[in-house]
Amino acid sequence: NFSLNQLQDIDAAHHLHPFTDHKDLRGAGSRMITRADGPFIYDSEGKQILDGMAGLWCVNVGYGRHELAEAAYEQMKELPYYNSFFRCTTPTPVLLSKKLAEVAPAHINQVFYGSSGSEANDTALRLVRHYWALEGKPEKNIIISRHNAYHGSTVAGTSLGGMSAMQSQLGGAVPNIVHVMMPYAFELAEPGESDHDFGIRAAKAIEDAILEAGPENVAAFIGEPIMGAGGVKIPPASYWPEVQRICRKYDVLLMLDEVITGYGRTGAWFAAQSMGIEPDTITTAKALTSGYQPLSALLVGDRIASALVEKGGEFFHGYTYSGHPVACAVALANLEIIEKEGLIERVRDETGPYFNKALKERIEGHPIVGEVRSFGLMGAIEIVKDKESRARFPDEGTAAVAVRDHAIANGMMLRATGDTMILSPPLIWTRETIDLAIERIAKALDLAERDLRK
Ligand code: PMP
Repeated sequence: NFSLNQLQDIDAAHHLHPFTDHKDLRGAGSRMITRADGPFIYDSEGKQILDGMAGLWCVNVGYGRHELAEAAYEQMKELPYYNSFFRCTTPTPVLLSKKLAEVAPAHINQVFYGSSGSEANDTALRLVRHYWALEGKPEKNIIISRHNAYHGSTVAGTSLGGMSAMQSQLGGAVPNIVHVMMPYAFELAEPGESDHDFGIRAAKAIEDAILEAGPENVAAFIGEPIMGAGGVKIPPASYWPEVQRICRKYDVLLMLDEVITGYGRTGAWFAAQSMGIEPDTITTAKALTSGYQPLSALLVGDRIASALVEKGGEFFHGYTYSGHPVACAVALANLEIIEKEGLIERVRDETGPYFNKALKERIEGHPIVGEVRSFGLMGAIEIVKDKESRARFPDEGTAAVAVRDHAIANGMMLRATGDTMILSPPLIWTRETIDLAIERIAKALDLAERDLRK
């Protein structure tokens, strides 16, 4: 058992794990998470923290699930690995594909596996462009995405994404990707514009981009149903049906990135079902195994799948770990838990609405909160200096970081993105867990306000 200081010394000396900003990780208040159970994580000093981020939008069934450890153990003993090339496959990816086709929207019946969401988006990008080439329209290859979108860390993911800080480090993006406005009413709606009208206007930005490029050149639109890392931006109800109508009108494929929203977070298996839309591809990862194993699944609709079968021959694609037997065994056990414990229905009918009500009644009135919003168990709190004008505190991000740091010190893990606080807890949260979280967040807001108004 290493102490936090010993571990930090090793890390500092050898730069073993340069994932986030070195300065940030070495700064005061950073911690080493060493174990977890149920909804709680524990650091190397033994401090218990309520995890409002489900790891990183992953751990939907909570921590300490021995069933998942056992599924991995049994599969590893039986067959730790075999490939899915050379006329071979193994049982668990086949069983998992069958299960995914059952729970996905009816027109989705094919799966491509990878180990991460980034890989799955990379595959999705290649797949939709390949689809149009098979259809004899190779020039139809522009992808429309949105500013501030996050679709992964690979070159393709970063190019599809719209985060300028990441793109500035790219040294040349994948060509033919354009970005349009995001459906973020809090900052982008005009004064007096209704939610409905704003949703239609944000969708119209996609139509404008299609017309500007020429519909014959546009392959697909990609978006998260609710932008996650970009700040839990919940679009008005008018947005997605209008986006779908526009895509259909110009024969542009619809790609959903459900790496965060998939597997119950919005109170349905997939947010596509919550929003009533029928995408051509759905990218999923994270909660597919509740983070207990690295695994992603790109779900592919019948239109693309049948073109591959009828016209395609081989789609030259596959990672060494595509359909990894152990990861797929864990995914199967994880989906079984979600089903057996009725976690999706619970989010839809009970904890989701309770979470929303708690945020509205107990957080939205706070003097430094400009808005709260949530959908299922995905929530955001906008931090402002002035409630009326919605003016922010100086130095973007500083205020949210102050709230976050007070929250963590107070036993509550949440995330700061720009001036937005993000919550995305395990789906096992109960009303009592929500009450505890809200109490700790309210206290963090008080303490941060005290510091910020000094
Ligand atoms: N898409 C979205 C919407 C994500 O949130 C993420 C990860 N945060 C990814 C893709 C990339 O997934 P991964 O980190 O597993 O590559």
